[in-house]
Amino acid sequence: MPDPQGARDARPRGNEPSTLASWLSRRTGVLRRHALGPECVDEVCAAVDQAERAVDLPSDRVIAGPCPQCATPCYARAGAASTRCPDCEATVSVGEGRRRMLLAAGEHLVTAADAARALQVLGHRVTPASVRGHARRGRLRPRGTGSAGRPLYCLGDVVDVYLTRPCTGDRTVSRRP
Ligand SMILES: [Zn+2]
Repeated sequence: MPDPQGARDARPRGNEPSTLASWLSRRTGVLRRHALGPECVDEVCAAVDQAERAVDLPSDRVIAGPCPQCATPCYARAGAASTRCPDCEATVSVGEGRRRMLLAAGEHLVTAADAARALQVLGHRVTPASVRGHARRGRLRPRGTGSAGRPLYCLGDVVDVYLTRPCTGDRTVSRRP
């Protein structure tokens, strides 16, 4: 990045991101007036874009299922009905993509915590306690026993219980069409 001040104290003391950000934030006035200011803004914006691509998905993104054309895992904004595949740009319906994922989940045995996590990824507000509550009320039958004697549920059974109450982007799904 060009040195807009040219003074001997113009360099940051250290390379930590917080030090650099603090140093830069005190020089926005200088950058605004400097001939090389637009170039600096371009470089900072490029660095921010690069950093954002390197970290986890934004929290408002939910899985939309595999692309119907190329099977790439696709993500959508929460509440969106469709998204585009990042590889082949095919349109991916969130409801259909999730339905394909759930059908594929089929007979996997999972703990209440794992079942809750799977449904949360698909956009449902589900807690492990809620899964166990359905089991206590007889809507869900354990299909096995895991470590420490924890009951295991068939993920497909859990999905059937919850998808009788569809959420945004979901259709009611039956595993037996
Ligand atoms: Zn694709």
